[in-house]
Amino acid sequence: MSSPPLPHLALIGAGITSLTLSIRLSALAIPHTIYEQSASLTELGAGLGFGPNAVRALEYIDPRLVEIFNKTATFVGTPSHQGKELLVQEGKGVDERVWIEFLDGTKQGRGETLEPEFVITAGNGRGHAAVHRGQWLDVLGGLADKERIMFGKRVVDVVCLDGKMRIVFADGTDAGADGVVGCDGVKSKVREVLMGMLGDGRERGKCGYSGKYAYRCLVPWGKAVEAVGDDRAGVSSLWMGLNRHLLTFPVHRQSEQFLNLVAFVTDEDGQMWPQEGPASLTLPATKADALRDFEQAGFSGSVRRLLEMTKERMDKWGLYDVADRPLSKFYFGRIMVIGDAAHASTPHHGSGAGFCMEDIAVLGALFEESIAHQSLTVETLEDVFAAFDCQRRERDQWLVKSSRRAADLYQWRIPDFLEPNSFEKMKADIEQRQEHCWGFDVEAAVREAKKHMSERLTLHTQS
Ligand SMILES: Cc1cc2nc3c(=O)[nH]c(=O)nc-3n(C[C@H](O)[C@H](O)[C@H](O)COP(=O)(O)OP(=O)(O)OC[C@H]3O[C@@H](n4cnc5c(N)ncnc54)[C@H](O)[C@@H]3O)c2cc1C
Repeated sequence: MSSPPLPHLALIGAGITSLTLSIRLSALAIPHTIYEQSASLTELGAGLGFGPNAVRALEYIDPRLVEIFNKTATFVGTPSHQGKELLVQEGKGVDERVWIEFLDGTKQGRGETLEPEFVITAGNGRGHAAVHRGQWLDVLGGLADKERIMFGKRVVDVVCLDGKMRIVFADGTDAGADGVVGCDGVKSKVREVLMGMLGDGRERGKCGYSGKYAYRCLVPWGKAVEAVGDDRAGVSSLWMGLNRHLLTFPVHRQSEQFLNLVAFVTDEDGQMWPQEGPASLTLPATKADALRDFEQAGFSGSVRRLLEMTKERMDKWGLYDVADRPLSKFYFGRIMVIGDAAHASTPHHGSGAGFCMEDIAVLGALFEESIAHQSLTVETLEDVFAAFDCQRRERDQWLVKSSRRAADLYQWRIPDFLEPNSFEKMKADIEQRQEHCWGFDVEAAVREAKKHMSERLTLHTQS
């Protein structure tokens, strides 16, 4: 007897989540089409850190991804495969497990040294590893089947008509699918539709302003070394201060090396961006704006020199998330969300994309299991989505909340952490949160998700 045809999925968006999921679906021969609003694949030229959990998930999704990651990522403290001579040289005594060195960004103004207050290490033998976002998207685009991507298709609605999902586009056309997977990022339209279906109203599906914004840029390596020396530029550093923090880490694109710089600011009036669903996540800004923001808060020395090395004009990014409006479920019927569409987070654990990879590892395993049991049909799609939701939602939503708190720790906004010796206490708190991020056990998560799915399928068979 021949098996029933596999359901056809529509993936909305062609970012990191969608393309990685597409690679997995193609390996399982699951038919799918990707609808992307832009005219081509686009990613910001900036660094993207991947923790041990992200790498483990990539290995599970497709071992080729880890091979490429090992060749293209910049590993702090280890000579990289490319740009070797530019990175920290061997023999300099750099601990390869260092994730981030935390410094007091206001100390230098008082004539003190550049020693970190504390250091967080990752127990995987490789602390900080980062890829260039644009280059990583090209890697994914090279492995995914480009024929499946339809560009210039901005989704404005998804409806269920006569048992079939219909995706409505801004250009007035529409398309059908058996199931819809929203991978449309922080400003997800699919999240809004889903929130409406769940009875909470579409408006609540919009992302909300976290009250923080960030200046982002890549500083050419020579200038970064001029500003802080190659030892400091060659590791990942986080300068703390009141209501501000600055994060830097090395990254390269092909053989060109940069220092990735992100300067985070608490918007004390909360007036810089709309509270929800902004038209744009960026506003034009200048180097002078960034310098003013940090000087006002008492930063000087290295932070000032680094900010002086940025371009005269750059963008500042409003940091939006779903902390105040979490989804009660990641699915309804045959529509689901994954990646930032499900759990858009501020970036303070350096783990948003890593959790997207964890999502894909789990969802891919559920699809694989269903196919192995010849049970992946239009009717059972909801069981796959429900099992995914059951296994992933709590962990994903923890990240969103914890990331906000992490930024408040780095920016000395939590009264309990402001007493003498609070750096030790702060270190312990951050360490515990990072370990929760990095300690993802992919095999255990997959086992648990499969159990949820099998229980649902058994219930259906009995009823
Ligand atoms: C400042 C900053 C630093 C970060 N640093 C890190 C880090 O170091 N490590 C880490 O793991 N994570 C980090 N993150 C988080 C990480 O960038 C995200 O988690 C990740 O990019 C999410 O990928 P995604 O594919 O789900 O969404 P996106 O990358 O946002 O992709 C969504 C895609 O959907 C498309 N789209 C949107 N709406 C529609 C529509 N209506 N119709 C059709 N297409 C649509 C978009 O054009 C886009 O291509 C950071 C985030 C920020 C803001």
